[in-house]
Amino acid sequence: MKIAMLARNANLYSHKRLKEAAEERGHELHIIDTLRCYMNIAARRPEIYYQGEKLTGFDAVIPRIGASVTFYGTAVLRQFEMMGVYPLNESVAIGRSRDKLRSMQLLARDGIGLPVTTFAHDPKQTEEVLKLAGGAPLVIKLLEGTQGIGVVLADTDRSAKSVIEAFRGAGVNIMVQEFIKEAGGTDIRAIVVGGKVVAAMKRTGAEGEFRSNLHRGGSAQVVKLTAEERATAIRAAKSMGLNACGVDMLRANHGPVIMEVNSSPGLEGVEKATGLDIAGKMIEYLEKNATPGKTRTKGK
Ligand code: ADP
Ligand code: GLU
Repeated sequence: MKIAMLARNANLYSHKRLKEAAEERGHELHIIDTLRCYMNIAARRPEIYYQGEKLTGFDAVIPRIGASVTFYGTAVLRQFEMMGVYPLNESVAIGRSRDKLRSMQLLARDGIGLPVTTFAHDPKQTEEVLKLAGGAPLVIKLLEGTQGIGVVLADTDRSAKSVIEAFRGAGVNIMVQEFIKEAGGTDIRAIVVGGKVVAAMKRTGAEGEFRSNLHRGGSAQVVKLTAEERATAIRAAKSMGLNACGVDMLRANHGPVIMEVNSSPGLEGVEKATGLDIAGKMIEYLEKNATPGKTRTKGK
């Protein structure tokens, strides 16, 4: 296969591993800087140009589109889809997963476990939002946040109110969520590829930290999922329409609840914790599915 990987930084662990895994299996993988692609939107003749040349002959495309370039990145990916190139994840599915509110609505519609979560736009509704979310302790999150930045735990209604007002004053979108105390600063990430859980790890936050993000000093270990957790991860991937993703869950008393579904999961933490070749699983998925013209959405 001739595979394109849309990525900004060729030196990231995940990107190097995907290239290595493709080459080990006898494929060609070209790393293409998403923001340097330019496109010709002409009737029935979609084209993409890169470094002065037209991109042709690709069988598959691996989108590794960073959250900050979602808008242009998904446009480039749609163009590949219109050319009939099979994407590891479709542009529409990536768009869904990048919008936390939209994601949670889709997961809720499919009856997948979620923490009690409220959203509101009008600052006058702060009190009602707090009440709806069940009162303190509460977790308040910036909708546009990643890597645990903009995730705040408020122990009392009063501090929750101040945090909400501060975020509102800054003109950002937030959600207010029930605090899953029993998770104990640990979350579970399951990597789902082609409707199967191929790896799972547990991440534990640094001492005194309720956020388990590796970027916040958390540590990763291999974990065995329960049947319910495995099924939840698979259903979440399916709800979002993602072929390859990282599903983050918390272990709540009433079962697993989804935090987030990530369309470009980092591979370093999970490959090192589990010793598994996850990049290889993603390439194998493309081998099985990337037959020309099989692109389901064609960019729709
Ligand atoms: P980000 O997308 O920035 O990583 P998350 O929503 O995943 O933000 O939150 C970061 C971490 O904070 C989670 O991995 C989890 O450990 C902790 N956390 C987030 N929401 C809750 C919650 N409702 N209850 C308990 N812990 C939470
Ligand atoms: N790689 C990061 C993670 O797995 C996030 C990438 C993204 O923006 O989708 O947590």
